Amino acid sequence: MTPPQAWKMPTSCDHCGSTFTRGMPWQRFCSTNCKKNYAYHHSQAADASPRECIECGATFIPWNPRCKLCGDPCRRARRSRLRAEWQSTLPRGYRNSDLQEAAKRQHDRSLDRARNHGNNWTGPELELVARGDLTTEELTIALGRTSYAIHSARRLLRVDPRKQALAGSPNPPREMEQS
Ligand SMILES: [Zn+2]
Ligand SMILES: [Zn+2]
Repeated sequence: MTPPQAWKMPTSCDHCGSTFTRGMPWQRFCSTNCKKNYAYHHSQAADASPRECIECGATFIPWNPRCKLCGDPCRRARRSRLRAEWQSTLPRGYRNSDLQEAAKRQHDRSLDRARNHGNNWTGPELELVARGDLTTEELTIALGRTSYAIHSARRLLRVDPRKQALAGSPNPPREMEQS
């Protein structure tokens, strides 16, 4: 039995250092990913010199050449600022704050007439919610529940098999829904 050729012996990846076995004698990297990363980090683009954070202006040393933000606090701040800017471009009534207010108003309205508030859900009630042809508003009136309770019942009907059983039928298969 001939000993294996030298290039077939396990070697270490020039980029990540992990041990791998070459498929070809000239192979230097364990994966295409490592080959690309190595090329990138050794190219002109791989400028990891200190720079200014685009959010707070502090000078920092990037952990990766493409890094523009000094850390997680700045990343979070930038994301929430951009989100707020985007929200402000939406017409009134479509912003998150408006939707939350509208939901709150609907809840307050339904709470006034929620005679079943706090009671356990019964099968016939869940059956009505599961039908899907009644709006939340109609269900709050029909069942004497709050709109928040209707929303959470809908959610439970999607994920909780016991609630599905109480409702009489689990969600029908797609084909049946369409026909
Ligand atoms: Zn590697
Ligand atoms: Zn910063």
